[in-house]
Amino acid sequence: MKLIDGKQIATDIKKEIAQEVREMVEAGAKQPHLAAILVGHDGGSETYVAFKIKDCEEVGFKSSLVRFEDDVTEEELLAKVHELNNDTDVDGFIVQLPLPKHISEQKIIEAIDPRKDVDGFHPINVGRMVIGLPCFVSATPDGIVELLKRYKIETSGKDCVVVGRSNIVGRPMSVLMSQKAINATVTVAHSRTKDLKELCASADILIAALGAPEFIKGDMVKEGAVVIDVGTTRVKSDQTKSGFKLKGDVAFDEVAHKCSYITPVPGGVGPMTRVALLKNTLLAAKKEIYK
Ligand code: NAP
Repeated sequence: MKLIDGKQIATDIKKEIAQEVREMVEAGAKQPHLAAILVGHDGGSETYVAFKIKDCEEVGFKSSLVRFEDDVTEEELLAKVHELNNDTDVDGFIVQLPLPKHISEQKIIEAIDPRKDVDGFHPINVGRMVIGLPCFVSATPDGIVELLKRYKIETSGKDCVVVGRSNIVGRPMSVLMSQKAINATVTVAHSRTKDLKELCASADILIAALGAPEFIKGDMVKEGAVVIDVGTTRVKSDQTKSGFKLKGDVAFDEVAHKCSYITPVPGGVGPMTRVALLKNTLLAAKKEIYK
């Protein structure tokens, strides 16, 4: 069994990005600039945005944070999105989700200029991904593809089962795995899938993105399978200072010894998700997707 070290790969990629930014700036280009809109004070969202800003600093990007209180109106938020769309200094921006219930997330996402949509959530980017055109791919699936590539994991002709069909993880993941560059044969499973245990146990590559701690047990995994654990659920723990720890969707102790490769939680997919946003921002700054 080989542990896929997402933390190390993410560190390597950050160094590569930082080097590229140094060269760009030395050659006279401006620093890539990522902006983030944060609404309210949700603990999770605060933490994610703080990480994104720290990541920008580490690779030499400029970053800006735009904050609104929970009672911001949809119109005010849309006005800010339009302002960022038209700000020539901003290469890409994100609106941290979830938003308060009185605001339509879809409306906000669709207001973002696809050329600056570095989260890859705009239907134009999703559509371009589906038909294999250059686009901003959403961060978690992009990070997983990068892990498979960097570990030179054979995907062509392999049977891949993706458990989960969300718009940000499962569905785009399944599309990417079926594309010509990857060539896997993909099945998408969800809460209505029958015989899930047998289906998972048939997979050469099993990608668990359902958000149910330790759901994938030893008897759901084939000998020699590659297992990618996307799940990150905060569960109570008396072993940590915070009183919580992150649990994946895979029962690691039961499953790991059967796998050829497996991602740990934490330290697997999570760091790659963070770095994928940096990759997209660099692509936006270089105008490499929409020329
Ligand atoms: P989500 O929107 O809640 O989607 C979960 C998906 O799993 C749904 O399609 C659901 O099916 C399916 N599902 C739930 N329970 C199931 C079951 N018992 N059997 C089969 N399918 C089941 O979640 P998400 O946003 O995709 O996130 C999934 C997990 O990944 C969460 O733990 C999240 O925290 C984590 N995550 C981690 C990262 C990272 O960077 N590591 C990034 C994003 C998300 P239905 O469609 O039928 O409801």
